[in-house]
Amino acid sequence: MTPKLMRVLRKLYKYQNAEYDAERRVSIYNEQILSDKERDILQEHQWQSNAITYFADHDDVIEKLRSLKNSPELTQERILTTFIAGVGGSYLRGRSVLSAWSKLNNIAVHTYLEKPEYRCCWVCADHNEPNYLHDSHLQYCLYVGNAYSSTPTYAYLNLAHLLTQPVVAATAEDKHAFLSLIDLLRNAPDDETPGQFEKRLTAAKIIKGDVYTKRGILDSLARLGVIPNQFITLSDRAWTNFGDIVSCENQLKNTKGRSDMEMPWAGWKGRLKVDEAQLQKVFGAYV
Ligand SMILES: [Zn+2]
Repeated sequence: MTPKLMRVLRKLYKYQNAEYDAERRVSIYNEQILSDKERDILQEHQWQSNAITYFADHDDVIEKLRSLKNSPELTQERILTTFIAGVGGSYLRGRSVLSAWSKLNNIAVHTYLEKPEYRCCWVCADHNEPNYLHDSHLQYCLYVGNAYSSTPTYAYLNLAHLLTQPVVAATAEDKHAFLSLIDLLRNAPDDETPGQFEKRLTAAKIIKGDVYTKRGILDSLARLGVIPNQFITLSDRAWTNFGDIVSCENQLKNTKGRSDMEMPWAGWKGRLKVDEAQLQKVFGAYV
């Protein structure tokens, strides 16, 4: 990914430039909006504007994701370095890899299980129906720095693309930004809420990007238990069911109906700071 290609993609993936394919339920983006020169840039980078991936059902998703297990390209070291490069901002796409990778490591084969509370699988949050997903647009969103790793479908598309890409290194500035973020959590006042922390993080100017891409970082660290929450213990090496995590939101007093703040990050409280043991376990080489 280069800044030049990113500029072309930003122009291409606009809502006004999409035509809805009702049969597959995806938006198709029209390259005609681009100049010849811009289309050449797509070609040069072998970027397919409308790559669509089909998932037959829930079990197909899980099988596809699990097929990436033990890929030699997806080492723990690479994932951590890529994530830190994402936090620091030298490689924004790195922000999404950590929680996707943790899903890959821990997800077990299981039967689709729906409970009345949520219209998706209680275990993994995915659905059990034929699904076409706009792979190219998702990759674009990941390159912008969004985390999008709430389902195995997203985790699969994320990592399947990542393993075709060159390995990146985290710069000294990236590592510094990561450590500054951890320090900011360590120094939290006991009664600080996630929303207040996000404001303090913005004011500290440690991390680039909008509130959503920053929140993706915090949510990823919370999913691995590095950032604790008040309700449920999470770990990088254990699976916790989607329904068991999300249903804790009922116990949250501080969201006041704000649906954009989700568990597990939404369940943090200043007094919980950072789980130092979990931080050492996951990021020991960096902290
Ligand atoms: Zn499931």
